[in-house]
Amino acid sequence: MKFKRILLKLSGEALMGNRNYGIDPERLAEYAKDIKDIVDKGVEVAIVIGGGNIFRGVAGASVGMDRVQGDHMGMLATVINGLALQGALEDSGLPTRLQTAIKINEVAEPFIRRRAIRHLEKGRVVIFGGGTGNPYFTTDSAAVLRAIEIEADAILKGTRVDGIYTADPEKDESAIKFDHITFEEVLKKGLKVMDTTAFTLSQENKLPIIVFDMNKKGNLLKLISGEKIGTTVDL
Ligand code: UDP
Repeated sequence: MKFKRILLKLSGEALMGNRNYGIDPERLAEYAKDIKDIVDKGVEVAIVIGGGNIFRGVAGASVGMDRVQGDHMGMLATVINGLALQGALEDSGLPTRLQTAIKINEVAEPFIRRRAIRHLEKGRVVIFGGGTGNPYFTTDSAAVLRAIEIEADAILKGTRVDGIYTADPEKDESAIKFDHITFEEVLKKGLKVMDTTAFTLSQENKLPIIVFDMNKKGNLLKLISGEKIGTTVDL
């Protein structure tokens, strides 16, 4: 296998499947199966999940809500998604732990780095909920932060497009996909991979980012096996 330990970032929106809101149990089950396939190959998997399918702090702020209050709601939304994902993973037979950046002791473990690493070594899938625990951050930043903390080999950003393009492929038909690109080129070309905070944190810590289509069944396993899937961003 190409990687021993990975951090998989899934957006909240990905969980919606074809719905406009909330969680699609079928999509969740598909993800769980794909994740099981790589855990069965001995890959250690940690997951950061977004909350955009339920709530985003900026959306609240745009209708006059206090931003910090809204961000708290967003962070709790990621915990809801984390619980849903945990359920789906356990249904597929995987042992899991959910750790949160904000304490909800009756529901999940608090984030403890060494404990998270121990879970991974024991073959448990660790889901990190609650983002970074701070307002004004995103779950992309949380994903990079946790990936560095647990010394993951790479961050795998599962999206609905199959990589990074010269322009938005959903809007521009002439857009061309990169197989590989450096952090510097992404910045120079003004491409959007993650928000700036998350992206720079990744760059400074030499953590490769792989953007790939998580909605194509089997892609995750192919990627882990070393097949050229998606776009890799590194030094
Ligand atoms: N959030 C936050 N701090 C964090 C991570 C997330 O305040 O460290 C809040 C923020 O309001 C954000 C929401 O949680 O809009 C959902 O996260 P995000 O938008 O990153 O989810 P995704 O786009 O991946 O679904």
